[in-house]
Amino acid sequence: MGLRFYVTLTLTEHRVNTANGEKLLPMVRLNAFERQWAETGPDATRVFEETGASGWYILGRAVQDFERVLAEYWKLPHAIGVASGLDAIEISLRVLGCGTGDRVLTSPLSAFATTLAIAKTGAIPVFADTDPDGLLDLDACEDLLRQRPDIRYFVPVHLYGNPLPRPRLQSLIADFGLLTVEDCAQSIGATYESVPTGAAGQLAATSFYPTKNLGAMGDGGAILASDDGHAKLAKVLRDYGQTAKYRHEQLGYNSRLDELQAGLLHRVYLPRLDQWTARRREAAGRYERELRHENVRILKPVPGADPSRHLFPVAVPPNLRDHFQRHLRDSGIESGIHYPLAIPDQPAMARIPFQVHGDLAQARVLCASEVSLPIHPYLTEQEVESVVRAVNGWRPEILPI
Ligand SMILES: *Cc1c(COP(=O)(O)O)cnc(C)c1O
Repeated sequence: MGLRFYVTLTLTEHRVNTANGEKLLPMVRLNAFERQWAETGPDATRVFEETGASGWYILGRAVQDFERVLAEYWKLPHAIGVASGLDAIEISLRVLGCGTGDRVLTSPLSAFATTLAIAKTGAIPVFADTDPDGLLDLDACEDLLRQRPDIRYFVPVHLYGNPLPRPRLQSLIADFGLLTVEDCAQSIGATYESVPTGAAGQLAATSFYPTKNLGAMGDGGAILASDDGHAKLAKVLRDYGQTAKYRHEQLGYNSRLDELQAGLLHRVYLPRLDQWTARRREAAGRYERELRHENVRILKPVPGADPSRHLFPVAVPPNLRDHFQRHLRDSGIESGIHYPLAIPDQPAMARIPFQVHGDLAQARVLCASEVSLPIHPYLTEQEVESVVRAVNGWRPEILPI
């Protein structure tokens, strides 16, 4: 009992010395699910009761209704609910015919799931470098595509919720005839020149993992499609490849969104998403205006982009990152790293064939220097202020003893 209490205490609170002695203050967290539950719990409980009473738990009315409103939200003709963001990318690639030996151009700086989805189709991931702000370098991509006409598939990532410039994506896709799945797991709500991400390629994939901007109370994901045929095939593939009950025309998946998650997403979380995104943007705006430190560089969205602010990434000199994160923790602020290893450097990659274009220097430098500051819809003004004060007050020249 004592031990459990102690562990909880250190994770959620930190000690500060005040004039009157030691005080315990709550940590500024990367996520605040308890605050979300305090606001949404009654609505969520209603959905739970209604789903239970309906007697229908997988692929029913709630999934259909959610798919309709999600497609409307995304301003695309079709949304197809699946079991995760990972599956949404893999199934989308399968819909476009991607399979064994095909080459898929993607980013070395992303959640591992982006590449895992490619690898699971049997295709060969091909990595180009990122730019200094962490987005796939589209000039490097163009250079590579000129040299390698056998690359036919493309999985760009709108990392951190920062949209890639759509016109540039579209011209690459058109010039090289690429079949494209945009990874929008972090970019729901983000736009480039007022158009949501996901409209440049044939298909887009998103995730409802709880920490995402539109998170479920468990796993979930969706495929966004413009083409009726693509949408139909995605629905077949997510349900064992069935075209009718017990008629299997494809080797499909068990990758279905359940009624409970669909009900929660549709009735509890999606109606709050715009307001949540607005609060993320307010916090990001304050960080952009108020953070001022010669060793802290904000990773910027491109001009014309209105990001979803899934994360708030900054970069510090690699040799000072531990010191910076320790300083933040001692100031009561949680921080994250997205991501500590370039995907081709992950141990699991030794098990599959892949190709790398250039030295991936930018991506690797970011892996050693990125730090994510707290950003979520329930962050208070006071908490934003504590983060600003801690960052601006960092003294990297004072080395720890
Ligand atoms: C979260 C995430 C995924 C995977 O989504 P899951 O639902 O966790 O499978 C893929 N790509 C990116 C960029 C992500 O952030």
